[in-house]
Amino acid sequence: MPAIRGEQVAAIAVTEPGAGSDVAGIKTRAVRDGDHWVINGSKMFITNTANADWLCLLAVTDPNAGYNGYTQIIVPTDTPGFSYRLLDKIGNRGSDTGLLFFDDVRVPVSNTIGDANRGFQQQMNQFQDERMVPVVTGPVSARRLWELTLEHAQQRVAFGKPLAKMQVNRFKLVEMMIQITAAQELAHRCIRKMVAGEDVTLDVSMAKVFIANMKQYVATTCVQLFGGSGYIWENPAARAYVDWRLGTIGGGADEVMKEVVARILRI
Ligand SMILES: Cc1cc2nc3c(=O)[nH]c(=O)nc-3n(C[C@H](O)[C@H](O)[C@H](O)COP(=O)(O)OP(=O)(O)OC[C@H]3O[C@@H](n4cnc5c(N)ncnc54)[C@H](O)[C@@H]3O)c2cc1C
Repeated sequence: MPAIRGEQVAAIAVTEPGAGSDVAGIKTRAVRDGDHWVINGSKMFITNTANADWLCLLAVTDPNAGYNGYTQIIVPTDTPGFSYRLLDKIGNRGSDTGLLFFDDVRVPVSNTIGDANRGFQQQMNQFQDERMVPVVTGPVSARRLWELTLEHAQQRVAFGKPLAKMQVNRFKLVEMMIQITAAQELAHRCIRKMVAGEDVTLDVSMAKVFIANMKQYVATTCVQLFGGSGYIWENPAARAYVDWRLGTIGGGADEVMKEVVARILRI
């Protein structure tokens, strides 16, 4: 696969203007015409919009079949009828995110990923892998920001002593490290289970919620410890403050994750 070899950029095109958390509510249609799918509709908030060579698109292929009526289709972004508009995000500005339009986009039926009409189930499985990304990387980036903040708190002197020597700030640093360490252990638990081939749906859903909230707490606390310099773009705490805000929304909002956990725990 060129994308796995790092030769091509892919995008996951699931969310639509009218359906995000409720994936089953998507409306983009792919209709079979001989050996081709003909695609019409739109997608929203898609990462890699401008840079993607191809999309992994989820479309409705049988509107009467419920969860068995969706298909994942590879759509090269140079296909006629495809266009996009970029969106102006508050954070994560190093990546592009946009609105996609499909106007009679024709791709061969051989571009179908996996089985036709099993796309919803395949997409849900893919989301588990996707959610592992913030779970694995989150504690690492939070720890790095903590280290930078500790360094600052040990060097910055106010009222005759370093910030870190004031108990209220020392406790903030300790409380953050407790959360980061707990997050790291949750991440390790998910990794161990995934490597062992176990179902990680419960663990990764819980970990995603915990780690996204931990990061937002760490980011806002670090901004506070940096003071005015924490409110300046060049400070990593400022970047983290806006970038990490996405964590409780993207790739499955906290509330959606909690519904998944509740369902598994039969609550
Ligand atoms: C920067 C960025 C990048 C993204 N990249 C991609 C991408 O590459 N591909 C892609 O397909 N999508 C992408 N998304 C979309 C993202 O996954 C959705 O924004 C997210 O799933 C939420 O969907 P929504 O925005 O439609 O919000 P909605 O579904 O309208 O939900 C709004 C809010 O309602 C609440 N809510 C939702 N459901 C429930 C519930 N059951 N119970 C209680 N409260 C609930 C939550 O607080 C939620 O945040 C991206 C979004 C952003 C902002």
